Amino acid sequence: MLHRKEIHHILDGYARDEITIATIGSHTALQILKGARDEGFKSLVICKRGTEEVYRQFGLADELLTVENFEQVLEKSFQEQLIKRNAILIPHGSFVEYLSPVRIENELFVPMFGNRAVLDWEADRGKEREWMERAELRLPVEFNDPADIDRLVMVKFPGAKGGRGYILASNHDEFEQKRKKLELRDKGEFTIQEYVVGTRFYPHYFYSPLKDKLELLSMDIRYESNIDGIARLSYILRDSLPEPSFVVTGNLPVVIRESLLPRVLEMGRRVITASQEMFSPGLIGPFCIETVCTEDLAFIAFEISARIVAGTNLYISGSPYSQLLYDVPMSTGRRIAREVKEAIKGDLLKEVVY
Ligand code: ATP
Repeated sequence: MLHRKEIHHILDGYARDEITIATIGSHTALQILKGARDEGFKSLVICKRGTEEVYRQFGLADELLTVENFEQVLEKSFQEQLIKRNAILIPHGSFVEYLSPVRIENELFVPMFGNRAVLDWEADRGKEREWMERAELRLPVEFNDPADIDRLVMVKFPGAKGGRGYILASNHDEFEQKRKKLELRDKGEFTIQEYVVGTRFYPHYFYSPLKDKLELLSMDIRYESNIDGIARLSYILRDSLPEPSFVVTGNLPVVIRESLLPRVLEMGRRVITASQEMFSPGLIGPFCIETVCTEDLAFIAFEISARIVAGTNLYISGSPYSQLLYDVPMSTGRRIAREVKEAIKGDLLKEVVY
């Protein structure tokens, strides 16, 4: 992994009053660009050829660079162009997926908002579980042996992007049948996890190392196909239910019972503390814990996204929670830019960039 010192050495060459906030044109880029502009930064978006129109249309980027494919971003000459512009890159879900965590860690020498060491902990299911356990989150029960399946389980295969290709099974026989049918026998490692029945909440947090403060900025529910469609027809379809899939197609806004807020904040705090113990200085900036709240009002967590999540796009002009925290419409994108601004003011950029 590129060492923190190498990145900070590059950052030393940056003109603090000429910083550009840059990102890849996808996922939450519009929100990030708007946030940068609202906080007074220059902004830059890197677009794959053919997608520029979206970013021109909204006029939020001061500069637009076109690439044929996102791998080009890692080319030395391209990175040098970004460094010349004093660019700080803001990672988001598509950014991490297109560039790949390993290549970001080893080849991307442009300073990035947050702690790039977190990529390792997020990308590896085993390490992610270790992190969640250390944070003392309640997790779905896992079964090492399919023969032990004694309740409804979700089988998660690696690379099953966005929940496509997961299977549900209630016992060992059903698991084997579906595995055969889907020809999944040779797909390598998989995780058999209890399917938690309840209501989903995906809270969007922001941790500021400058203030040592955790903020709850907003929350959403992922709208997933075809599972959310099946729910509407389950009575009619009951004899011929299709295999559910969990492909994200959108996001729905949600607020939580106020009496549950202390627990939501507590989960966020524990995730931060555990990250600081496991990979100092820990998680910096935006993150999300994917949870299901059961009828006993217990939160079962099944994933941490250690960066801005797409559900925050609902709140470009603020959320019910961010409106309580800030006098201006504070999206997660804008909160990132605000943290960079505060860091520049206090000469603490190295605290929030790696
Ligand atoms: P992403 O990386 O985009 O978060 P993914 O491929 O890692 O997606 P998950 O987030 O693990 O997939 O799961 C996809 C969806 O499946 C969730 O949003 C949720 O609806 C459902 N899900 C996952 N795990 C469980 C569980 N243990 N119990 C109930 N539902 C679950």
